[in-house]
Amino acid sequence: MAKTEVTPMMEQYQKIKDQYPDAFLFYRLGDFYEMFNEDAIKGSQILELTLTNRNKSSKNPVPMCGVPHKAVQNYIDILVDQGYKVAICEQMEDPKLAKGMVKREVIQLVTPGTQFQTGSQNAKDNNYLTALTYDSGSQHYGFAYADLSTGELKAADLSTTDEIVNEVVSLSSKETVVLSDNLPTEISETLTKLGILISHQEILPTNSATSYLSQDIDNEVVKQVVKLLLSYIETTQKRSLDHLKRAEMYEPSDFLEMDHNSQYNLELVRNIRTGKKRGTLLWLLDQTKTAMGGRMLKQWIERPLVNEAKIEQRQNIVEVLVDHFFERNQLQDELVSVYDLERLSGRVAFGSVNGRDLIQLKSSLMQVPKVQYILEQVATSDFDDLLKELVPLDNIVDLIDRAIADEPPISVTDGGVIKDGYNEQLDQYRDATNNAQRWLADLEAKERQITGISTLKVGFNHVFGYYIEVTKSNLNKIPENRYQRKQTLSNSERFSTPELKEKETMILEAQEQSKNLEYKLFVEVRDQIKAAIRDIQRLADAIAVVDVLQSFAAVSEEYRFVKPTLIKGHEVDIIDGRHPVVEKVLGHQQYVPNDVQLDDDTNVLLITGPNMSGKSTYMRQLALTVIMNQIGCFVPAKSAKMPIFDQIFTRIGAADDLISGQSTFMVEMQEADDAIKHATPNSLILFDEIGRGTATYDGMAIAQAIIEYVHNNIGAKTLFSTHYHELTVLDQTLKQLKNVHVGATEANGELVFLHKIQMGPADKSYGIHVAKLAGLPQTLLGRAETILDNLQNNDDQTLDAKAATNEPQVETSINNGHAEEEQISLFPMDQVDEKQATVINQIKQLDL
Ligand code: ADP
Repeated sequence: MAKTEVTPMMEQYQKIKDQYPDAFLFYRLGDFYEMFNEDAIKGSQILELTLTNRNKSSKNPVPMCGVPHKAVQNYIDILVDQGYKVAICEQMEDPKLAKGMVKREVIQLVTPGTQFQTGSQNAKDNNYLTALTYDSGSQHYGFAYADLSTGELKAADLSTTDEIVNEVVSLSSKETVVLSDNLPTEISETLTKLGILISHQEILPTNSATSYLSQDIDNEVVKQVVKLLLSYIETTQKRSLDHLKRAEMYEPSDFLEMDHNSQYNLELVRNIRTGKKRGTLLWLLDQTKTAMGGRMLKQWIERPLVNEAKIEQRQNIVEVLVDHFFERNQLQDELVSVYDLERLSGRVAFGSVNGRDLIQLKSSLMQVPKVQYILEQVATSDFDDLLKELVPLDNIVDLIDRAIADEPPISVTDGGVIKDGYNEQLDQYRDATNNAQRWLADLEAKERQITGISTLKVGFNHVFGYYIEVTKSNLNKIPENRYQRKQTLSNSERFSTPELKEKETMILEAQEQSKNLEYKLFVEVRDQIKAAIRDIQRLADAIAVVDVLQSFAAVSEEYRFVKPTLIKGHEVDIIDGRHPVVEKVLGHQQYVPNDVQLDDDTNVLLITGPNMSGKSTYMRQLALTVIMNQIGCFVPAKSAKMPIFDQIFTRIGAADDLISGQSTFMVEMQEADDAIKHATPNSLILFDEIGRGTATYDGMAIAQAIIEYVHNNIGAKTLFSTHYHELTVLDQTLKQLKNVHVGATEANGELVFLHKIQMGPADKSYGIHVAKLAGLPQTLLGRAETILDNLQNNDDQTLDAKAATNEPQVETSINNGHAEEEQISLFPMDQVDEKQATVINQIKQLDL
């Protein structure tokens, strides 16, 4: 049998590939990164590359494709964005100097959670890598997350699947690190359904892990998960983690809790239809001027506060900034020139920073004293904490200013990065090079004179070095033996002389030394900045806070928001409240403001009114107002008094569960269950038409039971919209329930929505009017009105159906399952006893 020949290179490749079975291995070969075998087949499809073969003529050609090393980042991004990992394998020595096979090593494993998003469109997004461990003893989960580009690192002790799902979804995590076989399968399945890549990792004895653990974390589960996360980061990144912040522990109850469906349905940061930012609360509130501010705003919206003092402090600062229009404008102008300090310091730590980045860092840091000065002009004691963090880093500014050229090139190894006057030795090299340039110019003049060739040129190229160039027509003028031929071009010849050769060696050496020295100096500067990374990060945080608060002030003024009054009890008193996003879309004039009044004796508002009248808008309006209040913003109303809520539970909108793919009704029931189990008197519950997903009486019965339960056992502030008018009588038995309805009138047989919330129940359902607005055929609408009349007169529907159709198909329609269900639901559920149920079943068996 023919032995398969494996070249030494393929042997090396395979050895490395075996260590990264789940990643694309980008194997550096000269100017390309090559993929082989399966990687090449799959990679060529995804990246639209030409698939070729190595060793074409042999029995075992190896499928191969490659990407140029200069463009490699794009290709990596495409693969990683699609959820794959890429192992970058570099040549670790100069191939020219290598004896035998060039040494190669994987220098980084790029994964969805560790990818550095560099594009500007991602500047306002975080990329979170998460980690999860399970302690079977306590049945608790350790949860941690980090953003490698900004250095954020946080951890929590969680106890339920729901909490985990809420965390990973609200962080939009694309990758979760777990210990092998450590998680209950239910969790890993859920994560996979969410499209999250699960990466396995062992906890390694890392040098850094302990130092990143905040001293005051004494929770073992949390410690473990942080170590796991750091092990993964070290394994994949294989470089300094200096910019990672010390792990900070948090608890979900430190924030206003909302489950992922609520966050989604309220369109806080993502538009349900488009998946984009437009049309969301984030979109409305975002007038931030920096990338850091943009990211922080998003984090705040996803994690509103529950701590009264902190909320008030933010609102007080917003108030000052609203009142000082001039200073706020100045502030915005200064913030515009602050680059992404968090990500710049990330690049400093990673060693991927270049001269231009440092210039950006310098100009950003130079803004700090200006921001500080403006704030000091208007500051009250609420600004104290912020001003304490806003410390200019003059030494860094000074260092960069002395060391780095004002307009440095992108490359840090080709010279031109360090300023003249920073280093004596470098200045000497540069003088030598400059002198040499002068010498070359002199040489050109001298040779022109000697030869009499006025077009003679002294030039340089990378392959041949320095040369004297003479056009073909002038060649005969060159004195004999004066020059040595170097290169022939179509129109000219290039020459050298011993004198030029000698000078060339000197110049190139000086340049080489100068470049090396420059790089060394650059690294020194970088390391000095690295030592100040924590200060830069603190500063970045403070700038982000200033930015978000000025943004709140700007939108609060633009959209006439008011400062809410926080109260201790449970009373909600909002006058002329608005849904800020709908208002922005419709225009201020078009939007009908509505009050929300829930005094201490009112916990449940039962909202009735025609479809499309504004019930769910009213409910969302309250939820957004609560969230805006608790992130420290002003709120969309004429005046607002409200307590701090601990949790928001919603069932709004018809969206099915994103994760489990459950039916609407099942999700409704699960969300009702969630609210009932976890809500407290300090919570807000919003239920939009619960029960509509099942047969009428079934749904109505469940709706009523839920309302009663919430009313009697929880006492949370609850808005419940329904189209079951029958439920409006509940105000007679439930003391803390009030009926309200959204007004509508009829004009010339047409329905006119007033969008105005009024006391008491609605008197009509207007369904047929809505159907008419929707354009259903006139005959159908006429028929619906007849049926409605009959129903309202308690006529026998079966008879009516026969009379109306006069067709034998009545028989079949009664026998199909759907009709049966409709028939059954005609009997009020609570009035059917066992005997009657038997009779009903017998009737159903009859062949009519
Ligand atoms: P419902 O839940 O009663 O079916 P929605 O809340 O979805 O109705 O509102 C339907 C439409 O009515 C909204 O898309 C919006 O354009 C408009 N609308 C709702 N509330 C108001 C309001 N207060 N002022 C003006 N237009 C409103």
